[in-house]
Amino acid sequence: MQTTHPFDDDKLREECGVFGVWGADGASSVVALGLHALQHRGQEAAGIVSHDGHNFHAHRAMGHVAGNFDRDDIIRKLSGSAAIGHVRYSTTGETALRNVQPLFADLATGGFAVAHNGNLSNALTVRDKLIERGSIFQSTSDTEVIIHLVATSTKPTAVKRLKKALKKVEGAYSLVCLLPDGLIACRDPLGVRPLVMGKYNDAYVFASESVAFDVIGADYIRDVEPGELIVVNDDGLQSFHPFEEQRPRPCIFEHVYFSRPDSIIEGTSVYHTRKAIGAELAREAPVEADLVVPVPDSGVPAAIGYSQAADIPFELGIIRSHYVGRTFIQPSDGVRHLGVKLKHNANSALIKGKRIVLIDDSIVRGTTSLKIVQMMRDAGAAEVHMRIASPPTRHSCFYGVDTPRREKLLAAQMDVEAMAKHIHADSLAFISLEGLYNALGDHRDAAHPQRCDACFSGDYPTSLTDRDREEPEQLDLVDAD
Ligand code: SF4
Repeated sequence: MQTTHPFDDDKLREECGVFGVWGADGASSVVALGLHALQHRGQEAAGIVSHDGHNFHAHRAMGHVAGNFDRDDIIRKLSGSAAIGHVRYSTTGETALRNVQPLFADLATGGFAVAHNGNLSNALTVRDKLIERGSIFQSTSDTEVIIHLVATSTKPTAVKRLKKALKKVEGAYSLVCLLPDGLIACRDPLGVRPLVMGKYNDAYVFASESVAFDVIGADYIRDVEPGELIVVNDDGLQSFHPFEEQRPRPCIFEHVYFSRPDSIIEGTSVYHTRKAIGAELAREAPVEADLVVPVPDSGVPAAIGYSQAADIPFELGIIRSHYVGRTFIQPSDGVRHLGVKLKHNANSALIKGKRIVLIDDSIVRGTTSLKIVQMMRDAGAAEVHMRIASPPTRHSCFYGVDTPRREKLLAAQMDVEAMAKHIHADSLAFISLEGLYNALGDHRDAAHPQRCDACFSGDYPTSLTDRDREEPEQLDLVDAD
């Protein structure tokens, strides 16, 4: 039986990463390197579409970027000075090759390839209408809705068609699209998912995260603005704002967990933000303890911030093996429980007899927290106090992040005291939503939140047309604080 490792299993999972370049020799190699740096945003499949001035070329495959795009024969086939790419973790549409992006179609305006990070919250409803009118869908991906809306538009150019199409969808989208004569980068009006722009020699590059620019030696210029649509072609760059202006609501969880700590979002270092979150958590939820221990790797920056603010030594009390892949084969039920220690092991010499503050970024189902607390106790910890660098996750995400249904979220089922008992911790505390905003240098405006924080607050920034038609009665389990 193949399974995801237990420590990675109990996380919200980022959906996808996109990368695009216009005007660089060997564009597909540049995209492949960029996708390597975005691999944490999707490990199930990867794809690149290039254009050589005459023809489009595509390669899509299940699995990681390495192994699929480190082959000369494949990169040579993807010729041209323009290319876009995508890494994918399935959020909508089954995991199948036909759903692997970039998607491509020949339209009346010419070839059109699109790579999408996010999720359209009315995709099923729009899809049904398109099918009624004769559209034939090739995939089950929500992104294909955009292609059909562009295909059926009567506007004269692909750019005009895309602008019109995007006015018919709701939800989250950061897109890079490749046309025969240009590249389009676009972010939804709320800017829910990130998208940044850079310069690679004379070429423009776009990526989900700035870390992809570091890998290729490109300079980060700025974030693509919420609601901005940028067209790059041989004449240069044009910026449009085709949507009615709205107050942006970028995803707050990018700062907590999804993005790599060496990325810059909204001009701010993710690493520094995570340390600030840890420091705020120490002020909100202090505890008498001997050591601060991060749950590796994502809990590390917040644990450093907690340790410095609380003046409690930081130690690596859990050691992660870097020689175990994200998935592994568990040979039989009898040894399945041993799998936890394959990738993470308690540093017993350090832990024994100590009062430990364990720092993690989030609790989703609670299965991981239970195992880690037990691991600390088995290693001889005198006390185990868990501190979480995000508020309780009580609501599902509909914007391109894989979350369990609400009834599976531990914080939707019980209050914090009951959660502490459930994971066998001596104490448990989460940073407050206000504290999280403070760490980001904001004060949360409860009437008009500056960010999407719906998985904590239930305050979704868009309508959820598909969800509401499927689940008109929402579960109301535990009230938000
Ligand atoms: Fe991000 Fe949560 Fe909003 Fe989803 S619901 S976009 S994970 S803040």
